[in-house]
Amino acid sequence: MVNTVIAKTLVQALDTLKQGDYKIVAGGTDMLIQNRSHTGMPIAYKSNILYVNLVKELDFISDDENNVYIGATCRLESILKDQRIPQILRDVIHEMASPAIRHTGTLAGNIANASPAGDSLVALYALDAQVRIQSAMHERIVKVSDFIKGVRKIDLSPIEMITEIIIPKLDFDNIYFKKVAPRLSDAISKLSFVGAYSFRNNTLIDMRISLGAVYMTVVRNRSIEKKYIGMSKEEFKNHIKEILIDYSHIIKPIDDQRSNKEYRKQVALNLIKAFVLNC
Ligand SMILES: Cc1cc2nc3c(=O)[nH]c(=O)nc-3n(C[C@H](O)[C@H](O)[C@H](O)COP(=O)(O)OP(=O)(O)OC[C@H]3O[C@@H](n4cnc5c(N)ncnc54)[C@H](O)[C@@H]3O)c2cc1C
Repeated sequence: MVNTVIAKTLVQALDTLKQGDYKIVAGGTDMLIQNRSHTGMPIAYKSNILYVNLVKELDFISDDENNVYIGATCRLESILKDQRIPQILRDVIHEMASPAIRHTGTLAGNIANASPAGDSLVALYALDAQVRIQSAMHERIVKVSDFIKGVRKIDLSPIEMITEIIIPKLDFDNIYFKKVAPRLSDAISKLSFVGAYSFRNNTLIDMRISLGAVYMTVVRNRSIEKKYIGMSKEEFKNHIKEILIDYSHIIKPIDDQRSNKEYRKQVALNLIKAFVLNC
């Protein structure tokens, strides 16, 4: 038999996790699918379950001069509607799931699920977002790109939980998000792309590319990005062949029920090409 705890406060949630062997459920939109049972049967959870969805103190969005802070129980729909959230993340959430799922699911759940096709991750990697992780004894802040270690592998001990997502307020001249999926809503991405750049006086000062579902984790490579900083628009476009070669080395998709690796790789390179040539 499994134990179920419905936490009402953060202290209660952290104290429960300290006892060990509890699995967190926020919106439950991933957890229900992963633990589904036959119609009419109770959900087949295999471990003790800690519901955190009623922890009101984690249901917030706040900001200061540099960052927006999103609490772990804040729903995706609230994030979508908040003008303080960087546009690129709102563009991504707009195409995530359906309104019903967005009213239930959380950003923390999408991160902790650590799927290479998790849509929010392409934006969070591009923005250098961080997660605040707390246990009853300590807290730490980690970049989302370091927190995710592989397919469904995260840097989180059993006594810890994500309590907040920290997103830098960044302005770009241009942002571009493309989700490649069989339909707009309620479809998991075959692949996804986020690009952002800024020029000052015809000099590239910032360029970010992240790609989802083309490797075990979202792909973002800072050393490739840095190579092109300082170029004029014309030089940047003229380097398109080199840029595509750089990315073709790190895009390593798999075949699965949604798509095959050749398609994923070619479409990813096409999106990078369009992003660079349209700058
Ligand atoms: C019909 C449908 C359509 C979907 N479409 C999309 C889509 O288009 N794009 C997409 O990316 N996803 C999609 N999803 C997946 C899902 O909705 C998202 O991943 C959502 O953000 C998960 O949030 P949640 O709160 O429901 O997570 P839950 O299911 O509650 O949890 C997911 C995982 O995160 C862990 N977790 C949750 N909160 C915390 C926390 N605070 N600290 C530590 N660990 C935590 C849980 O233990 C679990 O491992 C879809 C799901 C469904 C059912």
